[in-house]
Amino acid sequence: MNSAPPLQHTIMAQCPLCARTDAATYAAFPVMTWVRCRCGLIYMRSAADYGVAIAAAGAPNLHYSRRLRRRISKSRHQILDALNHTRPGALLDIGCALGYTLQAARELGLDASGVEIDEAAVEFCRAQGFDVQVGTLSHLPFEADRFQIITMKHVLEHTPDPRQALAEVRRILKPGGALFIAVPHAGYRRAVRDPQHAKFYQPTPTGAEGGHYIYYTPATLTQLLASCGFEVVRVHPHLVHRSAPAPLRLLQYLLAPLRWAAQQVLSALALRKEFWLVAVRRVEMPQTESS
Ligand SMILES: [Zn+2]
Repeated sequence: MNSAPPLQHTIMAQCPLCARTDAATYAAFPVMTWVRCRCGLIYMRSAADYGVAIAAAGAPNLHYSRRLRRRISKSRHQILDALNHTRPGALLDIGCALGYTLQAARELGLDASGVEIDEAAVEFCRAQGFDVQVGTLSHLPFEADRFQIITMKHVLEHTPDPRQALAEVRRILKPGGALFIAVPHAGYRRAVRDPQHAKFYQPTPTGAEGGHYIYYTPATLTQLLASCGFEVVRVHPHLVHRSAPAPLRLLQYLLAPLRWAAQQVLSALALRKEFWLVAVRRVEMPQTESS
């Protein structure tokens, strides 16, 4: 081991949300430095080489596959959340991994496609008959206005250039189409209490938490999406899905008060390790945007 601290180079010189440059150190390690901007965004300001060229997803493995059925069920609820805000149509899952969202979409009768950076995962999905391409956030290999629904689960925190990624997402989403995003919650109690020792920010051989660059809260992500031509219409899971079959919808109505109370407790105690939201693509970009 070299005893000299590794040279860190700049990942984000300014806040990708508000462009301020005076963010305060939040968690600092020999190989990476996290900062928190006054706007609330937490991002990686600098890192040594080892943590930079990190891909989003790891190779598929059996441990992951065992949880597939539970992940498909969760994905179904997430797609139904999006369908509360847009009509049914072609769905794209960005970072589709082993295809659990594609499977859920298929079971809901939607035409589903996926994009994935990991070629082994792409092969795995294709072997199950899914339409999956190799792609990255900087280039999504689809024509403009192609999709009605786009899902991005634990993807956006993997890019240091979320504006570029969201511009690319916006290009291929129809006006009025719904974008579903799930990301880690920067306000998660354990991460806020002691950032220096929180798992969110710890360096690992694949970066922090497998290559994270930015940690969002519902407020900072809503602000970012607004400036990129999206309107956030829902944060956290819906209690009732209008596209669900009638018996399930009745059950959802009955359970709604209980689930609402549970959501209040999760929020009040900052127990959400992740959050999700639905945004709708606006027809026009905001006029006040300065770049
Ligand atoms: Zn900021």
